[in-house]
Amino acid sequence: MENQSNFIKTIMEDDINSKKHDGIITRFPPEPNGFLHIGHARAIITNFELAKVFNGKTNLRYDDTNPSKEDDVYVKSILEDVRWLGYEPNNIYFASSYFQEMFDRAILLIKKGLAFVDDLTAEQMAEYRGNLLEPGKESPYRNRSVEENLELFMNMANGKYKEGEKVLRAKIDMKSPNMNLRDPAIYRISYAHHHNTKDKWCVYPMYDYAHPIEDAIEGITHSLCSLEFEDHRPLYDWVVKETEMPKIPRQIEFGRLGIENTVMSKRYLKFLVDQRLVTGWDDPRMPTLSGVRRRGYTPNALRNFILSTGLSKVNSTVSKDMLEAAIRDDLQNNAKRAMAIIDPLKVTITNYPEGQIEYLTVPYHSEKPELGEREIAFGRTIYIEKEDFLEEKPNKKFKRLSLNDEVRLFHAYFIKAYDVVKDQEGNIIEVLATYDKETKSGSGFDARKPNGTIHFVEQTTALEATFNFFDEMLDNDETKKLEDRFNSDSWHIVNGFVESSLKDVLDLEKFQFLRKGYFSVDQKEGKKLNFNEVVPLKSSYK
Ligand code: ATP
Ligand code: MG
Ligand code: MG
Repeated sequence: MENQSNFIKTIMEDDINSKKHDGIITRFPPEPNGFLHIGHARAIITNFELAKVFNGKTNLRYDDTNPSKEDDVYVKSILEDVRWLGYEPNNIYFASSYFQEMFDRAILLIKKGLAFVDDLTAEQMAEYRGNLLEPGKESPYRNRSVEENLELFMNMANGKYKEGEKVLRAKIDMKSPNMNLRDPAIYRISYAHHHNTKDKWCVYPMYDYAHPIEDAIEGITHSLCSLEFEDHRPLYDWVVKETEMPKIPRQIEFGRLGIENTVMSKRYLKFLVDQRLVTGWDDPRMPTLSGVRRRGYTPNALRNFILSTGLSKVNSTVSKDMLEAAIRDDLQNNAKRAMAIIDPLKVTITNYPEGQIEYLTVPYHSEKPELGEREIAFGRTIYIEKEDFLEEKPNKKFKRLSLNDEVRLFHAYFIKAYDVVKDQEGNIIEVLATYDKETKSGSGFDARKPNGTIHFVEQTTALEATFNFFDEMLDNDETKKLEDRFNSDSWHIVNGFVESSLKDVLDLEKFQFLRKGYFSVDQKEGKKLNFNEVVPLKSSYK
């Protein structure tokens, strides 16, 4: 964001230059009612990065004003995800700790004749509100006296009424072309247990009333929010002004980020979790930050992806390819490389001494010596991928092993296949081959060119491993109801082998398995050698 110019940065620069503010303070204000997703990453990165440009501050504020949906589990996961992305909030606040001040300022509004207690039902209120073409009608309760409103509001707060029986509304303008200004409700009754304030309150502020006060209390200079709040801005400004907040934040809207064929609404993601269609919020198929983390995405890649989408005043939907390209770019440079055999075929090298194993010292990444070295085993029996062998070479493009043809084994020797062993159904269960010890990798041998290079794992030292492959969890038939679009056949588990150097891998460690793809260790279920496919290699590499 440092070098990137965008409209919000320009506004901030102007505000610093004109001395309107002497520093920038932003906030990321999630409601703790679910886990964060990739869309939230845009808001996190935008807020933190913009503040950083000006040496400013960014608060994490839990917008916990709706007790029925909030939970401490979400509070915890949100902070974890923000930190995982690489950001440390300057302060961590809860909107609920401002409830008293919000309440006091609601009383101020009542005293100024700018708020009233309404007895209309929700349906009546909707009817009275009118619509875009028709002005609204004033509530018959709109002209209650200040004294009566004060008494009724105190009764609301003291639990004298049922939920929905009364609300406190701002008294603005029922004829406003902006629907948000037609006497919006600012307090409602709820007897739900609040995760922070427990049962202290039974009246809760509505978002449009609470949010500007929260921003103003924290001295937020620029309150960034997504585009759907553009029409709420006049109400935001009204609340700041009429509640007489000493500091005046400015709301600025930016476009929401979407990803093709990915639903990121918390409501839908929660549905998948509650119905147990996925294994949890961190299921590797989920677009949640905890899901993509477990899948193997890196914070660096996500950050590069988000920054590359730019920031604009329109909502945008980008392709999954763009996201996957960012992941690949990162892992290509930073993931260790190793060998795994996912669908094994045994090859016996009959001119190699029985019982002998040799170890070859090779780098984890040929261009990144800092990633270290490992030893790989070579011996008489190895596994190769089933798809890397065909008895008869089908055409010149087949750069793999076939009878009477020679291939190079990565980091090892050339081998030449000369016969196959088949089972009763005629399936090949073993390939017989010879190796040429002159061709050892690194020896500079160049008398012959092999037909291709394939990967392998020595059989006696090979470690059993599990590989998880994922398809889109969302069926792309958009005519179907969201609830029916979950693709339950989107997680495939395959057992195979990895080279022995991987015996002590750490959770979330990343590898490029040569010619296979990028994989990330997932030890959540207690299995040590369990790998999630993060992204395949570029499809051009075959
Ligand atoms: P959802 O609709 O997924 O439940 P939300 O907007 O209700 O998301 P909040 O917890 O209120 O979720 O979000 C915190 C911040 O993240 C808000 O400022 C919101 O605008 C922003 N945000 C959420 N989703 C996106 C998105 N897809 N793109 C950009 N910003 C987003
Ligand atoms: Mg929200
Ligand atoms: Mg929401």
